Amino acid sequence: MSSLDVDLDRKLAYDKEKGQLITTDGSGSRLVLAMPMEAFFGLVDHLFELFMSGASVILEGAGEGAGKAAVQNIMSRKDIEYGLRKTLSRGSRWGHGRYELLELDFPRNYSRLRVYNCVFARESDPECRSMWYLRGYLRGCFSTFFHNPEIICNELKCMNVGDKYCEFELRPRASP
Ligand SMILES: [Zn+2]
Repeated sequence: MSSLDVDLDRKLAYDKEKGQLITTDGSGSRLVLAMPMEAFFGLVDHLFELFMSGASVILEGAGEGAGKAAVQNIMSRKDIEYGLRKTLSRGSRWGHGRYELLELDFPRNYSRLRVYNCVFARESDPECRSMWYLRGYLRGCFSTFFHNPEIICNELKCMNVGDKYCEFELRPRASP
C-alpha cells in the first residue's frame, strides 16, 4: 500500500487578532494547539518523575483518548479502509511523521504500520518512553475502527534505539 494522501486540502493559519491557530479543510475549520516537541518531552519526563513506570499507562491513556477523538467523525463512513487511510494521512498532517500502512487484516483485527521521521523520537530515550503516547493514539484509532476494545499496540521497531523508522502492530490482546 503506497500513498496515504487522501486529505490534501488541509491548511493551517494563524489568527493574529485572536492569537489562535486554525486549520481548515473541506469539512470546516477548527482550533489547533501547537506544542514544541521540547514541551512534549518535558511533559513526558515529568510524568515519569512523578509516577515512574506508571507514567506509561497515563501517557498511553492520553494518546488513546486523542486517537478515539481523531477518528470519531470518520467512523460514519462506510469504507473502513478509506477511513483508516484518511486517519493516518491526517496524523501525518498533524506532524507525527510519514505513515505507511503495511498490513490491514480487518477479519483478524490486525494491522502493521510504519512511521518515518517520527516526531516523538529522541535518541536520549532508549526506553522509548516518549512512544507511549503514540502507541495509545494508534490503539485508540484501531480499537474504534475494529470495534474491539481489546486491541493492543506493540512497537516492533523504534528510531529511539537506532531503527530507521518506528513500526507498530495492532492486534487483539488474546491472540498469540
Ligand atoms: Zn518509536
